[in-house]
Amino acid sequence: MVIAKKWILSKYFEGKPKPSDIQLKTEELPETLNDGEILCEAVWLTVDPYMRFVHRLIKEGDVMFGSQVARVLKSNNSKYPEGTYVLGKMGWCTHSIVSNESQVKKLPEMGDLPLSLALGIMGMPGMTAYFGFLEKCEPKAGEIVLVNGAAGAVGSAVGQIAKIKECKVIAFAGTAEKCTWLKEELGFDHVFNYKCTDLDKALSTVAPKGIDCYFDNVGGDFTSTVLKHMNSLGRVCICGSISTYNSQVTPTGPYPFIDILTKALTIKGFLIYSYTDRFHEGQKEMLEWIQSGLVKYKETMTEGFENMPSAFFGLFEGHNIGKAVVKA
Ligand code: NDP
Repeated sequence: MVIAKKWILSKYFEGKPKPSDIQLKTEELPETLNDGEILCEAVWLTVDPYMRFVHRLIKEGDVMFGSQVARVLKSNNSKYPEGTYVLGKMGWCTHSIVSNESQVKKLPEMGDLPLSLALGIMGMPGMTAYFGFLEKCEPKAGEIVLVNGAAGAVGSAVGQIAKIKECKVIAFAGTAEKCTWLKEELGFDHVFNYKCTDLDKALSTVAPKGIDCYFDNVGGDFTSTVLKHMNSLGRVCICGSISTYNSQVTPTGPYPFIDILTKALTIKGFLIYSYTDRFHEGQKEMLEWIQSGLVKYKETMTEGFENMPSAFFGLFEGHNIGKAVVKA
C-alpha cells in the first residue's frame, strides 16, 4: 500500500503566504494501475516565486501546484518503465499515479550532473535566464548589464551568461554572503547588497554612461530608479517583480516615463511558458557551459517533504542562494 503525502492549498494567499494557508494531508493510492498509468515517487521538488500566484492555477482544496523530479516505482506504460526518472507537474506530493502523459516528460540530457538541476539551471529557471536575457535584452560585447535578484536561480544564471557574452555585470543581492559569491566565484564586476546601498548613487558611480541591458527580477521602486539610469536604446526584460508579490496595494510609481521616451527604451515582459518548445536549444548550450566551467550553479537544499512550506516562504525572505529545492 502506498500512502501519498500532499500539501493542500487550504486558503488563497493574502499578503505574505503563511503556514495556515497550506495543510499536509495523506491519501492511500490504489494498488493497481490502469493501462498507461505510472506510479511516481518524488525525489526532488521545487519551490518557486510564481507559486505565490497559485490562485491563477488551482482552487482552494487542490494540491499545491509545482514540478518535481520523480522516480517511476511501478509502470503500466512502456515509455516510462520502472526506475525511470521523470520531470512532472504532480504538485507538492510525495507519490502520485499519473494517467495523463502530458503531466510528465523525460529529464533533459544532463550528463553526470545532479538530477535536481532539472528543476534549476537545466530547467525552467535556467531557461528563463537563457531566453529572457538573450532574446529580450539582446546583449552585445562591451555593454553594461544590470541584474537584480542576482544570487537567485534566474539572476545568477543571467549574470553568468552576460559574462560569457563579454558584458560588464552590475549585480544586486540581499546578503553579504550572496554578494561574496557573486563577486569572488562568479566574477561579476560590481556587486551590491541592495539592502544597504543607495541605488541611485551606486549607479551614477559604476555606470556613469548608463546601463544597456536591465534584467529585472525585483520590480517596484528599484526598477523606477534603474530606468532613470538606462542608456539610450537600452533594453529591459521584465522577468519578475518579487518585491511587490506580497503587497496588498497596487504599486503606483513614480515611473520614469520621460526616460523611457527620451532614451527610446525597449521594455519587454517575458514569460518562459512561451519558450517551452525551444528548451532543448537552451539546455544543450547550458550543459556545454556548465561542463566547461563557464557557468556555475548553487542550490539551497531543504531536507524533507514536510519542510516544503518553509522552503517556499524562505524565497520571500532571501533564504536561498541559487536554486531552492526540496529533497523528498
Ligand atoms: P530566486 O532564486 O531569485 O529567489 C527569490 C529571491 O528573491 C530571494 O532569495 C531574495 O534574494 C529575492 N527577494 C525576495 N524578496 C525580495 C524583495 N522584496 N526585494 C528584492 N529581492 C527580493 O527566485 P527565481 O530565480 O526562481 O526567480 C527570480 C524572479 O524571476 C522572480 O521574480 C520570479 O517570479 C521570476 N521568474 C519569472 C519567470 C517568467 O517566466 N517571467 C520564470 C521564473 C522566474 P535577496 O536575498 O537577494 O533578497
